[in-house]
Amino acid sequence: MSFSRPLIVGGAVGTLLLAGCSADPSTDSTDDAPSDASLSVGAAFYPVQFVAEQIGGDDVAVTPLIAGGVEPHDAELSPATVREMQNMDTVLYLSDFSAAVDDAIDTTGARALDAHHIVDEHGEDVAAHEAATHDGEEHAADDGHDHGVADPHFWLDPTLLAEYAEDVVAEFSELDPDHAEAYEERGAALVASLSALDEDFTEGLAVCERREIFVSHEAYGYLGLRYDLEQEGMSGLDPEAEPSPARLREIRDLIEDSGATTIFTESKVSAAVAESLASDAGVTTAVLDPVETATNGDDYIDIMTRNLEALRTGLDCS
Ligand SMILES: [Zn+2]
Repeated sequence: MSFSRPLIVGGAVGTLLLAGCSADPSTDSTDDAPSDASLSVGAAFYPVQFVAEQIGGDDVAVTPLIAGGVEPHDAELSPATVREMQNMDTVLYLSDFSAAVDDAIDTTGARALDAHHIVDEHGEDVAAHEAATHDGEEHAADDGHDHGVADPHFWLDPTLLAEYAEDVVAEFSELDPDHAEAYEERGAALVASLSALDEDFTEGLAVCERREIFVSHEAYGYLGLRYDLEQEGMSGLDPEAEPSPARLREIRDLIEDSGATTIFTESKVSAAVAESLASDAGVTTAVLDPVETATNGDDYIDIMTRNLEALRTGLDCS
């Protein structure tokens, strides 16, 4: 932490006062961060945390803004976390995904690296893919730029997470030029493993009996576009939304027509609805994880690899 850092503005004085008797005001209360880290970085949700840790190595102390296991769409930030953000060199996030994070970045004036340009660049292709696979359904996805409901889940296409990794290498290198070479090396290794994962998906899903995936939370637009899958969601982009009885009847008919054997679920909330629909339709459920959080020490690659296996089984891929 002794590394000379760019001036931190906005609230630094307040933090000094709050830090009180602490010798070094930049040392926060959660002192499990490696003390030799040059950069202190906040991560708004799991996939950007994964990228920060892979690229940062021992040179970066990464602090998740949201407690582990908490679903980021509606997450709240603790006042302590917001105070800590004032001391962070940069915060990795996606705007229009977690309102609490957007607000905290505004109020603290923290430096932040927004991934939203990836959504801006690819969101319309996702919307067009969805529209093409859902003709006749009630989707208004083809109305140009102005949909506030663009699918945020870009990290489910590993090549798009690799795009963000390039941004993160540039950000860390600018903030900490002494370690730029290390950031570039680790960034290249991460991009290589994301590209290997992408190849696994492409090969693993090349030949399947079916390409429709029935899901609770409609998080798989980017995955579907990349690997030619058609998602049918019960509850839309918001994982907390209750599916309507009409939508459930519609899904039941689509399952019958497609010969699907599996409904993919994630959270305990939606699993209850999905399970009753599955037993009603005579199919099984399997977990497809939107990788918004990480649990059990599994990382992004582990979870995505498990997702691939679940898809291959559920879609009868050869
Ligand atoms: Zn989501």
